[in-house]
Amino acid sequence: MSESNILGWGLVGASNVARNRLVNAINSQPDSRIVAVMSRDLDRAQAFARECNISAAYDSLDAMLADPNVHCVYISTTNDLHYAQTLAAARAGKHVLCEKPLALELAQAREMVDACQRAGVVLGTNHHMRNSVIHRKARQMILDGAIGKPLSARLLRAMYLPANLHTWRISAAAGGGAILDMTVHDADIARFVLNSEVESVVAIKTQQGLGVGDIEDTVMGVFAFCNGVLCQFHDSFVVKHADMHFEIHGTDGSLYAEKAMSGQGGGKLFLRRGDARTEIDCGAYEELHTRAVKLFNAAVRGHGQPAVSGEDGVRSLQIALAVRDAANTGRRVYL
Ligand code: NDP
Repeated sequence: MSESNILGWGLVGASNVARNRLVNAINSQPDSRIVAVMSRDLDRAQAFARECNISAAYDSLDAMLADPNVHCVYISTTNDLHYAQTLAAARAGKHVLCEKPLALELAQAREMVDACQRAGVVLGTNHHMRNSVIHRKARQMILDGAIGKPLSARLLRAMYLPANLHTWRISAAAGGGAILDMTVHDADIARFVLNSEVESVVAIKTQQGLGVGDIEDTVMGVFAFCNGVLCQFHDSFVVKHADMHFEIHGTDGSLYAEKAMSGQGGGKLFLRRGDARTEIDCGAYEELHTRAVKLFNAAVRGHGQPAVSGEDGVRSLQIALAVRDAANTGRRVYL
């Protein structure tokens, strides 16, 4: 591919997830390269640029958005900043892959989708789990009737938040808490795998050692789906010894996606019918963010859609906010 046909990406935020996941995901594509990084602090931006071999470093979003080499941005700042940064990128005509949750309020997320549509730019939400071969296989098997009529499901996303992440994620100011961090991912993957929309939710949240102020580090609840499935979820920053699973039970069988909920991808899928338990061949592993960028680049070029759209990001945020509302009020909340 000629240099003139390469998509240039700018990183908004010199974040951990950008360093650990997206730098390689973008640079490993034949048709995209990271050409700029922006941080609140120029020294940090320059250090990140040196470390990751990025040619331009900025401490101003507007300056980076004015860079003609930047065609797409990846927004991975704290959750409170996604909204304004996406609107600015859309105004500048840049395509946006935005981290979850899209925003802190539903109206903001809807405005982000509208702004990108009006500007004619692609908006994707980085719910990476949809890129997992395991979850895609599970969805297809359910669609093909492998477990009969789906009845219930359980999502376990309980882990111990690494010490270097005990920052904004466990306090309120920048949009922290287990619900906006993890339940929002659950909402997306459950909608995807079960191929249905959430009708209502119930939830209880609590603090078990990490949450600051009134921010939850643990939440449990149920998504009630329009197709009748009840899906339990347990999200936590404080569980040190658990594996992260997703299981779906139907009238004719059960699917177990074992160790399949971590950011690294991986895991195994099993189908159980009676006492027989069979491992399912899910095909070749593809790194989750790498697939996200591949589909995003294609969408920018007019082929297909991002793995997870802006509208999907609106839906998952709506569900997460309903969970928070349900936990705060003790009521079942209808969407
Ligand atoms: P980091 O703390 O590493 O990065 C957050 C970035 O936000 C910083 O690099 C910083 O950029 C910017 N920032 C602005 N204001 C603040 C502030 N007050 N405190 C701290 N940082 C601030 O977070 P993560 O990389 O873990 O998460 C970033 C985003 O990515 C979040 O939205 C998170 O939900 C999402 N995420 C998604 C994952 C996925 O797999 N889909 C995995 C992990 C995170 P700078 O200093 O450069 O301006």
